[in-house]
Amino acid sequence: MVRPRKSRRVWFEPGITYFKPRGVPLADLEEVSLAVDELEAIRLNDVEKLEQKEAAEKMNISQPTFHRLLESAKKKIADALVNGKAIKIHGGNYEMAARRFECYDCGIEWEEPYGTGRPGKCPKCSSTNIHRALGDRGYARRGRRGRI
Ligand SMILES: [Zn+2]
Repeated sequence: MVRPRKSRRVWFEPGITYFKPRGVPLADLEEVSLAVDELEAIRLNDVEKLEQKEAAEKMNISQPTFHRLLESAKKKIADALVNGKAIKIHGGNYEMAARRFECYDCGIEWEEPYGTGRPGKCPKCSSTNIHRALGDRGYARRGRRGRI
C-alpha cells in the first residue's frame, strides 16, 4: 500500500521545461527528469534565498521533506551538468499556489488560482480598490535580498 502523499505547493510555473547540452547527438543523449516541486525547492532556496524553514512553509511541507526535495533536485542537476545530460522538467506531486487578494474597502481576502488574470473588483462589495494580500508578496523581497 502506498500512502497518498500530500501535494506540495508550488509558486512558480516553469516557462522553459527542457534543457539540452549542445553538441550531444540525440541518439547518445541521456535525460534527467526534474519534477516541478524539485525545481521549486531549488528556486526558493537558491534563487529566492529563503531559509529552509521558510521555504518548507511556503511549499506546505515539513523541513526534512523540503531538505530531501532540495537534495534530490541538486543531485539531478549535478548529474546533468557533469555527465552532459538533458534536463526535462515535468511532473511531480504538486499543486499551483493560489494568489491572495485583499479588498481595501471592505477588508475581505480571497484567493484566485494562477493563470486567471488579475480580478477586476472585490467579489463582495465590487470595489476596485483591491491589492495583492500582504502575505502573498514573496517576490517583492527579491531586490532587497539581492544586495550584499
Ligand atoms: Zn470589498
